[in-house]
Amino acid sequence: MKVREEVKKLKPYVPGKSKEEIIKRYGVKRIIKLGSNENPWGASPKVKERIIKELDRIHEYPEPINEELLEELENFLGVSKENIIVGGDGADEVLDILFKTFVDKGDEVIIPIPTFTQYRVLAQIYGAKIRFGKFDKEREFKLDVDSVLENISEKTKLIFLCSPNNPTGNLIDDEAIKEIVESTEALVVIDHAYIEYSSRGDWTRKIEKYNNILILRTFSKVFGLAGLRVGYGVANEEIINYMLRVKPAFSLTRLSQVAAIEALRDKEFFNKCVKDGIKSRELLYKGLKEFEELKVYPSEANYVLVELKTMSSKEFCEELLKRGVIVRDCSSFDGLGENYVRISIGTFEEIKEFLDILRDIF
Ligand code: PMP
Repeated sequence: MKVREEVKKLKPYVPGKSKEEIIKRYGVKRIIKLGSNENPWGASPKVKERIIKELDRIHEYPEPINEELLEELENFLGVSKENIIVGGDGADEVLDILFKTFVDKGDEVIIPIPTFTQYRVLAQIYGAKIRFGKFDKEREFKLDVDSVLENISEKTKLIFLCSPNNPTGNLIDDEAIKEIVESTEALVVIDHAYIEYSSRGDWTRKIEKYNNILILRTFSKVFGLAGLRVGYGVANEEIINYMLRVKPAFSLTRLSQVAAIEALRDKEFFNKCVKDGIKSRELLYKGLKEFEELKVYPSEANYVLVELKTMSSKEFCEELLKRGVIVRDCSSFDGLGENYVRISIGTFEEIKEFLDILRDIF
């Protein structure tokens, strides 16, 4: 047995703690899960109804390309279906396909950090050389554009711009994205996993102007389908056509397809989740600001980044777990220290209860 060197260098995947595990380990009765940037109100009831109907057909292979879903996405996004690829393991699959389509071993990718860790993991798996840029801690994590530009070379294949950025929550300015996109022939991946929670900064329609951008989006966040794994990429037709050659034909299951279709059709539920999600974020932000022990960063997403002034993230998370609350310890993000946590939105009752628990801790 000879395992690839790139694989040997990877750290084992450590999943976040599950609700069941916390209940068992800490003997708590209920869990407030604010750790994975999910939609606390779940998925539309219409999604559930349609899934139940579709159960009659689970012995049939799914459509490799579901036209009904593409048409709903066309309406939602205002772009043509030729510009869309839908992935079956969420946006994660689209990222994987991007590497398979564009990156040879030894090619370079640029990743400003701290950001979504999966870009780095995939770069390692595919043997790409990583050039790190930075979101500047001294300037509220504003993207340092020069840190990206100075790393661009002929070998650069992908540049990752996460906006709103995970875990910092801020958008990348339009001007900054424009400057980077116009300075390179490499494909710039603009990760909009959380863009529905932001009132500006949406680059999806810009695929009409630029042929070197791919917009990454997902049903895991505001649409509440994280457990069904549906994500998509939007780019010019040529890029999409190459990526479709690489994508496993049946990776998007029947149940996921119909769920995504109904999620897009239930506009009322979607609009309410956006509105209440933003309200929850503002409640969380204002509530956290009251604690002297915390530095809170403004957010355009469904989570808030917090710097702890008096304890490590490990100690803080442990205190919360004892009380049945899960938040994200950010020490595993490249480029962040041992004292940052990311807290996702919850229902209004959950946020209120969470803030009461903080008063107990501090
Ligand atoms: N991009 C970002 C910035 C994310 O935070 C996530 C999920 N945490 C993803 C992509 C992947 O989302 P999914 O695979 O669930 O669609």
